[in-house]
Amino acid sequence: MLTDTFQQELNLFLEKAADDGLTVSGKPNKNFRYIGELLRSYKVEQFFVKRLNTHGTSHTMADLLKESPSLDKTITLLDKKIEHAKGAYTESEATNIDGLIMLRDCFQLVKTALNRKHSNQYSDDPLFICALCWRRVRVSDNLRNEGRRDSTFYCEQHLPNKSEHYYRKDRTALLSAMKSTQNRYLEELKYYENLSFKQSHSLAPTIFKWVSSFTKRPSSLFSCINIHESQDCKWADKANILTNQTQTVFPLSYQKLKDINANEFASAAHWLIDGIVSSLDESKSKDEVLFWWREEPNRIRSPILPGSLKVKASELDNNNSDEYLLLMCSIIARYEAVQTINNIPQPRGGGAKKDKKKRDTVAKLLAENLKLTGKKNISGIADAMGISTSRVYKILKDL
Ligand SMILES: [Zn+2]
Repeated sequence: MLTDTFQQELNLFLEKAADDGLTVSGKPNKNFRYIGELLRSYKVEQFFVKRLNTHGTSHTMADLLKESPSLDKTITLLDKKIEHAKGAYTESEATNIDGLIMLRDCFQLVKTALNRKHSNQYSDDPLFICALCWRRVRVSDNLRNEGRRDSTFYCEQHLPNKSEHYYRKDRTALLSAMKSTQNRYLEELKYYENLSFKQSHSLAPTIFKWVSSFTKRPSSLFSCINIHESQDCKWADKANILTNQTQTVFPLSYQKLKDINANEFASAAHWLIDGIVSSLDESKSKDEVLFWWREEPNRIRSPILPGSLKVKASELDNNNSDEYLLLMCSIIARYEAVQTINNIPQPRGGGAKKDKKKRDTVAKLLAENLKLTGKKNISGIADAMGISTSRVYKILKDL
């Protein structure tokens, strides 16, 4: 069937666009991959047994799409043609009906695929790991009661409204690293920059994806235990295989893990939290480790065990050991990505130069004030420069 072939080629086309960091669109737009590139290779006459006289031989699906204001309208038009052909039933029209239906179905496949793509991209599903780093999202803290959207995407350190400093600093480092390494999502970044990042939905899932693109996938590490896996292979043996393999897959993180021996831990949960997470957690109070222990009974209860069952941290056994091994791979991949981003030098100068210019202007205006009236006119300076008075005070402090 032509529609089957079409579906396969459509999937390939979408995958390739995703690999290039682009979203497919129904209309030509420089920030998207245009579906017309695929439709151009399908001639309309291919769908019909008898050649249609109404179209030129070079008429393609892309041409059909271009003639309509939208993908939806193309489908409506074909629906009408199908109805019309059914009404005017003659032998030649009957052969046309099948062709028209196939053609309409192919456009429908495109529509479904683009809508699916769209809703994935704008997903507001909470994340498990912070969009900007390797720590866990703090949704379960008292923030949950506040109903804050950002608390479902970031760790405590990166909550945009709570600790703006780290959020801005690490986001700037990410965007700068994407530009200087010609990251595969650069086109997508440019698209959001053109919109000044103003979105009705959170960009956090997109930022999460951008961070992850700086290193290999967690499966690159996890897959190594499938090769070694045997029925009686203990979790601790698998865990040590993973740690050793980290040396080649995630070399920066390996420096933190190399001394962790899984045999010294009572369970896979202890190994992950007191071993792996603890080695990455540089805070003095081991915040991240404490958070894991506090949350783990809640987390482990939900999907794996029946909801009513209360599990104490001490009761976590090795039934879920594979899950902890997989979690280790996810966390390490994130840690590696963050380290990689931080190791990419950020071009400096632009901001510093701008700041110096502002300081010079404030100093100049201030000198004029003093010369004219003998007094500082802060709001006058703020007005003249188009900045707030508190900003002027801040700059004055630095003079
Ligand atoms: Zn974070």
